[in-house]
Amino acid sequence: MSTTTVHSPARYPAAPEALREAGLRVTQSRTAVYDALAARPHASADALFADVGPRMPRLSRQSVYNALNDFADAGIVRRIEPAGQPMLFELRVSDNHHHLICTDCGAVADVDCAVGHAPCLTPSQDHGFAIASAEVTYWGLCSTCAAAA
Ligand SMILES: [Zn+2]
Ligand SMILES: [Zn+2]
Repeated sequence: MSTTTVHSPARYPAAPEALREAGLRVTQSRTAVYDALAARPHASADALFADVGPRMPRLSRQSVYNALNDFADAGIVRRIEPAGQPMLFELRVSDNHHHLICTDCGAVADVDCAVGHAPCLTPSQDHGFAIASAEVTYWGLCSTCAAAA
């Protein structure tokens, strides 16, 4: 299954600025991975490696994984883990947005909070938890796949 992305254009800080702000050392591989992710939100590590690899022959797949983990730990990248699919990454963080995912072609689209602001959903039972965020994945067919079906 290929993973394409439907998204509205977003602006992110330039790589060196974002990395420095997150307390990460600015390296060539981190900068390349960050830039690739800015151009292709909701990408898997393998897709990013395919983007960056040809331009940086000495970059290993492992260093792409390492860069993404460092970004996620530093809070400048969000991990999305759709059931049955490779983990996806994006630079749009901290706004508790949700995702629409096509069960056929794997296209991913952002959806703003369902209601107002995080956690934006009230569970029928909170079991005493102080809820900070909610993450929803809407599964279905994208318009292209629905039209073809
Ligand atoms: Zn589709
Ligand atoms: Zn997203």
